[in-house]
Amino acid sequence: MPLKAEIISIGSELVSGQNLDTNSRWLSLALGGLGIETRFHTTIGDDMDDHVAAFKLAAGRADLVLTTGGLGPTQDDLTREALARCVGVGLREDAESLAAIAALFARRNRPMSERNRVQAQLPDGAEALPNPIGTAPGVWMTIGSAVFAAMPGVPYEMHRMFEEQVVPRLRLRHWIERVIVHRKIALFGKGESDIEAEALDLTARGHIPEVGITASDATISFRIRGEGLTPEAAWAQTQETAEEIRKRFGPLVLGEGSTDVAESLIGELKRTGATLATAESCTGGLIAHKITAIPGVSAYYNGGVVSYANSAKTALLDVPADLIAAHGAVSPEVAAAMAEGARRRFGVDVAVSTTGIAGPDGGTPEKPVGLVYLGLATHDGVETRRLEIGPEQPRDVVQSRSTKQALNWVRTTLKTWPDKPESR
Ligand code: ATP
Ligand code: MG
Repeated sequence: MPLKAEIISIGSELVSGQNLDTNSRWLSLALGGLGIETRFHTTIGDDMDDHVAAFKLAAGRADLVLTTGGLGPTQDDLTREALARCVGVGLREDAESLAAIAALFARRNRPMSERNRVQAQLPDGAEALPNPIGTAPGVWMTIGSAVFAAMPGVPYEMHRMFEEQVVPRLRLRHWIERVIVHRKIALFGKGESDIEAEALDLTARGHIPEVGITASDATISFRIRGEGLTPEAAWAQTQETAEEIRKRFGPLVLGEGSTDVAESLIGELKRTGATLATAESCTGGLIAHKITAIPGVSAYYNGGVVSYANSAKTALLDVPADLIAAHGAVSPEVAAAMAEGARRRFGVDVAVSTTGIAGPDGGTPEKPVGLVYLGLATHDGVETRRLEIGPEQPRDVVQSRSTKQALNWVRTTLKTWPDKPESR
């Protein structure tokens, strides 16, 4: 029988909706990574009967119960007392916990209040889980056949207690025998269904390691789950599949982990030593913002202009006024001239431009909202691309999608360039 875990988060501010219970999510993910399945999430307010009822229910249906919150020094912190009531014992003061609490106050040069003394109390027979960074120790005990670990509500205190105190105790019980690693490889530039269709062999049920696909904001991620008796073995199990994904999807691959398009593009700028400039109309500087959000990019990104009015395209990027008059500002001709102008003016290797109709107004039958032209100028000349993001999309989506497409176009172009800047 696989082990069943339950997580109980405690606090009236959670059930009232005032604060979001992020602890349960964190713990479920952590347990999942260790091969323990969470079967229930329970959230309760600061009420004694509810505590006792929830603890008893959990003790009857789960093998491992993790609670967070309610270990504070105040009247509404009921976890210790409720745990004691579940097994019909009293609370006793734990000398070591008291000494640790007193030492913490001494380190912080603050007097310890009498109230904090209650935090050193434990149900009779329970074990304290030391908390090196907060006042409340946790509690480790059994209720019926279930093991309970009661931890603080403060997220960083809880994380540390879980990792340093709870996990080793679970290993001692042989509840954790496997190590599980999750790897994520991010792709951009093709739809989820197309990518999935080309990876059916990898994502098939029963494939070892298990591979899943998720999509978020047009970035597609392969998630690979490896399992083994050691971290190295778990990693090794994922290796062949990870390499296969990189090989099969080549230029679509942004990288591993939380890599996004901009980050991956900066990696290519560093590799090639190329310099970049931007000329933005409908994206209003969003491309520049995405690039400059990444530290250390100043050696590669010279700058950009937001040339919103036609006159600005002419004044700042040398786009001929009669070219704009002939084709309109949203045209491949103008996108090309903007990119060329930026490349020349900034003296860079690559320049990318955007001009489009972000909406919600300004669309026509020939040039609907969501129509965006991108320009890309390099030593090979200038090219343009036409995006149709869709007249139903809100302005911010038109802007963010064109930004991502522009960044990705630069990225995939640089992918074909050699490592060192020759004589460009
Ligand atoms: P402790 O268990 O350390 O005694 P407490 O119950 O005294 O905690 P609270 O005042 O309830 O402490 O919470 C302390 C902080 O931890 C608050 O900022 C609260 O928002 C946060 N917190 C408590 N529970 C959770 C949870 N389940 N998810 C995310 N944050 C939480
Ligand atoms: Mg609380």
